Amino acid sequence: DIYPDRPNSAGLDFADERVLAELSHSLSAGADHRWRAEPLLADGEAEGTSVAVTNPADRRDIVGHVVEASADVIERALVDAEAEADAWAQTPGGERARRLVRAADLLESRRDTLIGLLIREAGKTAANAVSEIREAADFLRYYAGRAQAFDPATHVPLGPVACISPWNFPLAIFLGQVAAALAAGNVVLAKPAEETPLAAAEAIRILREAGVPAAAVQLLPGPGEVGATLVGDARVRGVLFTGSTAVARSIATTLAERLNPDGSPVPLVAETGGQNALVADSSALLEQLTADVIASAFDSAGQRCSALRVLCLQEEIADRALAMLKGAMAELRVGPPDRLATDVGPVISADARERIEAHVAAMRAAGRPVHRRELPAACAHGDFVAPTLIELEGVGELTEEVFGPVLHVVRFAPSDAERTIEAVNATGYALTFGVHTRIDERAADAAGLSAAGNVYVNRNIVGAVVGVQPFGGHGLSGTGPKAGGPLILRRLLAACPAETGL
Ligand code: GLU
Repeated sequence: DIYPDRPNSAGLDFADERVLAELSHSLSAGADHRWRAEPLLADGEAEGTSVAVTNPADRRDIVGHVVEASADVIERALVDAEAEADAWAQTPGGERARRLVRAADLLESRRDTLIGLLIREAGKTAANAVSEIREAADFLRYYAGRAQAFDPATHVPLGPVACISPWNFPLAIFLGQVAAALAAGNVVLAKPAEETPLAAAEAIRILREAGVPAAAVQLLPGPGEVGATLVGDARVRGVLFTGSTAVARSIATTLAERLNPDGSPVPLVAETGGQNALVADSSALLEQLTADVIASAFDSAGQRCSALRVLCLQEEIADRALAMLKGAMAELRVGPPDRLATDVGPVISADARERIEAHVAAMRAAGRPVHRRELPAACAHGDFVAPTLIELEGVGELTEEVFGPVLHVVRFAPSDAERTIEAVNATGYALTFGVHTRIDERAADAAGLSAAGNVYVNRNIVGAVVGVQPFGGHGLSGTGPKAGGPLILRRLLAACPAETGL
């Protein structure tokens, strides 16, 4: 057994001054490094014009350069992926797993450099960057462990699959998708988010260094059209996608027009948005509620699909809870995340900032109370959004997912508890949900009523742990099967013996 009890990756102890000193040192040493991402093909790197990738916290900082994949490059990658598919499929599961585990070890051994890259390319805080590297290593080891006994004679992979990933977890979700696909024996065409190709390129280099053949894992950076080309190509036998609900729908539409050679529909594993709620009744412990709401809404500047969008407060506690939340918001340190004390960094792009600000302005114009602080001067050169709290009259006022540090609050009367959860379900999204109460039956009732894929009781609603809390939703939030759980591997196989328990 390659990975017997699958312990999750260890993080960094931020309370240890030596750890912090080493991290600060390596962050300043890497502050001027210029990273590179180019199409990483079976026979080397493709050349082309390169485009600068800049730091969302300070647009003057050029983090690196990316060469986007042209139509010719995509075609070459597809030809080579098809040619490699059999050899990787015939590699025993244990051998594939060993290489993925080696990649996890390599990833951890480069942690400090990668933290610096995630901070500069994706605007992550140091703590978020550490968690992300842990999660990426966890995905590699978890899928390796699950697939190590796969027998090429009976566990038949799909063939070439496309992995299309988001910028909010440029290592963890990117590697999670790729690792699941590779573990199951598929060859991968990876299309990273346009905003974060540099971390993706490092991840692919690590996989190759760990022994995954170059033709089995190719990188195709570029805009959405690169993904669309892959999805539309009959040689692509499955798609893993994390991103917006609208893009997932268009992928599903394209895939619906063809079948795989064995006559089956082309599998799509999509993880999309959320309109995530947390319901607190009058028995909730307000100190804990405050800490969990702040973490759920503002960690990662609210740029997680799992993040809290609407807090539903029973009216008896609403005023006190709001006062405590506003106090806690005043303590958040917003600014460039290369400072280790920063709690809330930038949002990913100027477009994202403008979309979020347009929503806040519309809510203000509609007469909704808006609470936020001014941004500090250190935010002047980046795309920052101040943590914001908006009071609404009902959940139904939220039509779209607002992907940023904006928390909405609604009040409900005790007799309306069920109706409030039904209103959350009625948004059509069903990703994460939280309940804060000290009454066990209420927690059970709320959890039973919620349609969400991941329900959390008396804690925050972000940061699902690989292998322990499989993550994913239904409806507008995705197709399942959940990431970091066993079922996803079944979806990535064309056939496997019934008794595997997958
Ligand atoms: N898995 C992450 C969490 O539990 C969220 C992933 C996402 O944002 O797509 O917070």
